[in-house]
Amino acid sequence: MKEFAVFWGCTIPARFPFIEKATRVMFDDLGARIHELEGHTCCPEGTLVKANDPDTFYTAAARNLALIERADLGLVTPCNGCYSTFKETQSHLKTNWRERDEVNERLEKEGLHYDGTTNVQHFVEWLADSMGAGLIASKAKKNFWGMNIAVHHGCHLLRPQPAVRWDDPLHPKKFEELVGALGARVIDYPTKMQCCGGALDRVGQRESSLAFCRRKLHDLQNHNVDAMVVGCPSCFQQFDLNQAALQRANENVHVPVFYLSELIGLAYGHEPEELGLDMHRVSVQPFLDKWAARQADKTHLALDFDVALLNKCDNCRACKDDCPVCKIDPTFQPNDIIRDLVDGKIDEVIKDESIWKCIECFTCLELCHSEIGMAETFRKLKVIALREGYGPEAVPAGYKTFMETGTLGKPKMSARKKLGLDPLPDDGGDVMVRIMAESDDSKGSED
Ligand code: SF4
Ligand code: SF4
Ligand code: SF4
Repeated sequence: MKEFAVFWGCTIPARFPFIEKATRVMFDDLGARIHELEGHTCCPEGTLVKANDPDTFYTAAARNLALIERADLGLVTPCNGCYSTFKETQSHLKTNWRERDEVNERLEKEGLHYDGTTNVQHFVEWLADSMGAGLIASKAKKNFWGMNIAVHHGCHLLRPQPAVRWDDPLHPKKFEELVGALGARVIDYPTKMQCCGGALDRVGQRESSLAFCRRKLHDLQNHNVDAMVVGCPSCFQQFDLNQAALQRANENVHVPVFYLSELIGLAYGHEPEELGLDMHRVSVQPFLDKWAARQADKTHLALDFDVALLNKCDNCRACKDDCPVCKIDPTFQPNDIIRDLVDGKIDEVIKDESIWKCIECFTCLELCHSEIGMAETFRKLKVIALREGYGPEAVPAGYKTFMETGTLGKPKMSARKKLGLDPLPDDGGDVMVRIMAESDDSKGSED
């Protein structure tokens, strides 16, 4: 759906207006027509309201949904908490018809009726299922090539089943596919599916809550993550605001945190100031600086390589154990060299004599389901290495011999005679040397 009611919830407009801004910009860029209905209340938040009074919780949620039903719209929310409240309410009232009747008795006094028919989507779900990763990627002006980004889903985006059922709650992939479609390397990490712990803060357990936050941030740092991306304001609060509190206490944590719509905004060419990224508590500047440097690396790399193919090969690694050279010399890992290239380390790669270990046997090309192979990449690397003055001495020496004689070896006359072989016709070495000398002269005169 491209036309729907947007439900911002309380947290985003109250605490993180820059998330609202980036999400509005994103909807606009994607051609979505959003409706903002009057009369909504807090979704309401589960821990604080439902634990006190389930009737109030379901009545408030059903009232919000009834307003959207009356407008005959679907709902998209950029908040895990609101999403969870609505999905859980729909699931609960679907089977508990007596409670649904009681809720409707209350609502009907206000001229409203709840059916439970609203299509409720989280904005990540909307991006993945209604728009599709391909479309999201197609509108990007700059991508996150070379950036390591980790996704934190947040519990209530995916759980509990059966209330929520749009991706695997234990092994989700759709959020990560969106980030990957923006060109980033999506980093897997052990605590990925662990809750942010923010709910503990709300019930007075601040130290435990910070321990959750710290654990995940250390895990991300250990995985060289450049940024984490979230789709929930409570998760954002935990990893941005509370991370800033840890920094103030001199803890060694620094992981910039983005909302998915902010990342999309940057990829679509919006400036950080327009998106309000300077309002984050944890500076995103290190990420932006590295990103700018990576864009320059990519331009440099694209002069010699097809960067899209390099990325594809880097993400694949399917033939990593098949290279015959690796089998006898495990220090040669062609896939690692491809990764270093994708990481923009071309200056280091061409100085490393490992690139000369690729014997261009084309085994990887023959096995490659995408017909990419690595031999061509290694050949180009060797050319660049020589151009820049690197490479084993034997290579320029052999080339020099060829340029001086037109051959790399003369026939052994005594051995031929012993075997009764006739002399071979004169070789064309002199001709070749003359041709190349004349070509050099004419190049010189053109210069
Ligand atoms: S990760 Fe935290 S804020 Fe996010 S949904 Fe779970 S408890 Fe809520
Ligand atoms: S072409 Fe190079 S990288 Fe590929 S299998 Fe042969 S030696 Fe290994
Ligand atoms: S050469 Fe082909 S099979 Fe091997 S890693 Fe690259 S893309 Fe995958």
